[in-house]
Amino acid sequence: MNLEGKVAVVTGAGQGIGREISLFYAKHGANVVVGDLNLDSAEQVAREIEEIGSKGFAQKVDVSEKESAQGLIQAAIDHFGGIDILVNNAGITRDAMLHKMTEEQFEQVLDVHMKGTFLCMQAATVHMRQKQKGKIVNISSIAGKVGNMGQVNYAGAKAGIVGMTKAAAKELAKFQVNVNAVQPGFIDTDMTRAVPEKVRQLKIAEIPMQRVGEPLDIAKAVLFLSSDYSDYMTGNVLEVTGGRFM
Ligand code: NAP
Repeated sequence: MNLEGKVAVVTGAGQGIGREISLFYAKHGANVVVGDLNLDSAEQVAREIEEIGSKGFAQKVDVSEKESAQGLIQAAIDHFGGIDILVNNAGITRDAMLHKMTEEQFEQVLDVHMKGTFLCMQAATVHMRQKQKGKIVNISSIAGKVGNMGQVNYAGAKAGIVGMTKAAAKELAKFQVNVNAVQPGFIDTDMTRAVPEKVRQLKIAEIPMQRVGEPLDIAKAVLFLSSDYSDYMTGNVLEVTGGRFM
């Protein structure tokens, strides 16, 4: 799966799954715009990309702000001459039971996941439509399929990303722009390290493969959906969960 000469933009790429996707892209020849709220961590990932031998450019972005999202895509045009691949990966959790969840917690999560995915897709597809080629991978979650206690906001947003993926896939198919989603299961990152050990063990017991996923497990699926090997796939949702909730 060679991405030589391709330009990828990855959101939330300063750590966790987004960082791994960026480094895996770089190992396969792509130049990467590393977008994150945290510029320091984005710059660190960009340096790691350069060490691999590809080009990396760090851009501070808040994907939930229109100008900021547009600036991220523009950075790919300005620094690398275009955009071939977009990964909407930036994410947050603001967990609370339904009866305790504040309007703010609900809106914050929808803003980053849904509005952020919308804004970045909108900005990127201006260029992809003109070029008549592009790959978009939206990071949903298995919580968007099965729900999760304390995550009405997050599960709703992640299910929403599936709907957005399919609608965009239908609109963009005639421009040879593929839009697919990945639903990770329980992956070892800061997001899941915040889960209490008892809950963590319960979750692992639900995984047929009997192990927590690694960010690289997700990066491999994302690479496939970004490569020519998935050219006839659009509007798909790949579950990468070790078999959990199949
Ligand atoms: P993570 O380690 O918390 O990383 C998320 C990254 O997104 C952070 O660098 C964060 O920056 C950045 N970010 C947050 N809000 C942003 C915004 N408004 N604009 C730009 N960047 C923003 O999480 P992760 O586990 O790697 O998760 C990555 C994606 O996978 C998320 O969409 C998540 O929902 C999804 N996912 C994860 C799992 C899992 O088990 N880990 C499972 C299913 C789905 P700051 O650190 O500065 O806030």
